[in-house]
Amino acid sequence: MSSAHADSNLDALRERLLAVRHRVESAAAAAERDARDITTIVVTKFHPASLVRDLESLGVHDIGENRHQEAQAKHRELADLDLRWHFIGQLQSKKARQVRAYASAIHSIDRPALVDALRSEEASVDAFVQVNLTDDPGRGGVAAADLGALVEHVLATPGLRLRGLMAVAPLEEPARPAFARVRELSESVVRPLAPAATDLSMGMSHDLEDAVAEGATHLRIGTAITGNRPVAG
Ligand SMILES: *Cc1c(COP(=O)(O)O)cnc(C)c1O
Repeated sequence: MSSAHADSNLDALRERLLAVRHRVESAAAAAERDARDITTIVVTKFHPASLVRDLESLGVHDIGENRHQEAQAKHRELADLDLRWHFIGQLQSKKARQVRAYASAIHSIDRPALVDALRSEEASVDAFVQVNLTDDPGRGGVAAADLGALVEHVLATPGLRLRGLMAVAPLEEPARPAFARVRELSESVVRPLAPAATDLSMGMSHDLEDAVAEGATHLRIGTAITGNRPVAG
């Protein structure tokens, strides 16, 4: 790749990053919120470590990945950078300890067995409990009816610092009311058990405005910043 090509890639990346920052700022202003209370995690799944390096050079420090092996490899390759790795994908219990080793935050806590597997008497990792907003148990996330028990389980487990809830808006319905349900669950179920665990990890490339309007504190943005993902190979 010529350096001119590399520069134009970096320029395009910077443009997309700025465009998303502007979207977040506009959405925050519309909701009378402070954009500084909103962390944008850039989701780099399927992209090479070099893209993460470029993002870091543009001031990005929060990186999201959804597959353990890929995340672990990038973490190793980029150990010289100041990055926080957010694990956002479905997580097998047998991989839990390995993910803990490099992740600053795990957004996809969805069942008691995974909580037990993440137990540690050593360092704490930030924990988000994922809520399933559909009726399909295959989508990932705990059913709303089981949320309180899972939150209590997290709170009783050493090594997990509960930050709040995470959700993915269902494709079948508008995002805004779905995100409103997450906010309501946070207020009615999480707040009485853990008053400080008010964070909400929700909002992706196409629905970040709806998420900010409903109180998102952590956006997980992929394609709007990275461009289209390479096809999985
Ligand atoms: C891929 C992914 C994202 C980012 O999606 P985009 O539509 O590319 O912004 C966010 N959250 C999760 C859980 C993901 O798997």
